Amino acid sequence: MNATLHSRVPALLGAILFTAAGLLPAQGVRKHRPMPKVGEFHVLKADLHMHTVFSDGHVWPTVRVTEAWREDIDVMSITDHDDYRPYEKDVSANLARPYEIARPMAEALGILIVPGVEITKGDIHFNALFIKDHNAFRGKELQDGLAEAKRQGAFSFWNHPGWRGKAQWWPPIATAFSDKLFQGIELVNGPSYYEEAHPWVGQHNLVIIANSDIHAPSLSAEERSLSLLLVKERTLAGVREALDSGRTVAWQQKRLIGTEMVLGDLVRAYVQPAPYVRVAKGARTAALALRNDSALHFDLKTAGAPAWMQTGSVTLPPQSTTLLALRLTPEAPAARQRVTLRFEVSNTLAGPGQPLTLPIEFEYQPD
Ligand SMILES: [Zn+2]
Ligand SMILES: [Zn+2]
Repeated sequence: MNATLHSRVPALLGAILFTAAGLLPAQGVRKHRPMPKVGEFHVLKADLHMHTVFSDGHVWPTVRVTEAWREDIDVMSITDHDDYRPYEKDVSANLARPYEIARPMAEALGILIVPGVEITKGDIHFNALFIKDHNAFRGKELQDGLAEAKRQGAFSFWNHPGWRGKAQWWPPIATAFSDKLFQGIELVNGPSYYEEAHPWVGQHNLVIIANSDIHAPSLSAEERSLSLLLVKERTLAGVREALDSGRTVAWQQKRLIGTEMVLGDLVRAYVQPAPYVRVAKGARTAALALRNDSALHFDLKTAGAPAWMQTGSVTLPPQSTTLLALRLTPEAPAARQRVTLRFEVSNTLAGPGQPLTLPIEFEYQPD
């Protein structure tokens, strides 16, 4: 046994004891939700907004970590309210504690944990991530709290813009934006999608964010809204760089929301058509195989095809290959050729009310 290996043994043993001490859930099964790479980028599943008993959540910080592990979440942030702490008489008033308590366990389980806080001033809330001092926000006015976050080098986003009724670009938001105090918008919060806020993504170049804002214990991975982050490296610095560069896609059950560019890259990488379609002599039907290795779901609706080829709608479930039926008219050509079909990916939004369009190309090979 060489020295390097020897020195690793106690660390490994420590990790085993750590999990054996009951820090993993008793039912320690993790269902995988694979996200293949998109070009050079790894795709991480992130929940950047969750609560514990340190504000108005119902669970201890380590419970959030075990839930995240079980749900195959790669990046998490506990963002308790700075100015709303109903259990203050029962738990420490030190708002850095949830992060400090959760962090060793998150690190042991390979989950990236980002220090964060929910800046909670009346009905307008922002999350500030990558902060350095959790306790510096208490008792401050909104603009002062956001300015403090900026001083700490935070990435900040406007939370649940429409939670009290239809969102508007209210004056405090406009002021915060013109002072460059926030960079993103939580277009999806749990089961809510704020359609009225979607145009601001393009108008103000805001980064699209989706989170659970979970308060109760998590019941199902499928119901948790997440942000997909396209990162160059699987580190906190990688997460930060992806957020700063706007490489995010909101994932809400079957719905995906992103910019034309980022969402387009993701869908084009994940929907993989077979390179060719063979057609038996005289046949009037054929099938195109569409492979989806990701945990995502895609609904495709034909938006354009050659006059001699008819196709309909198809659903691509996660981690599967689906055959799309192609019906050929008597005018179908007898020679090989490239065919491009255009689809609307109807469970996506590449802009307000605008599903992503996906061209799919293959070689048509009649016998
Ligand atoms: Zn809130
Ligand atoms: Zn919240």
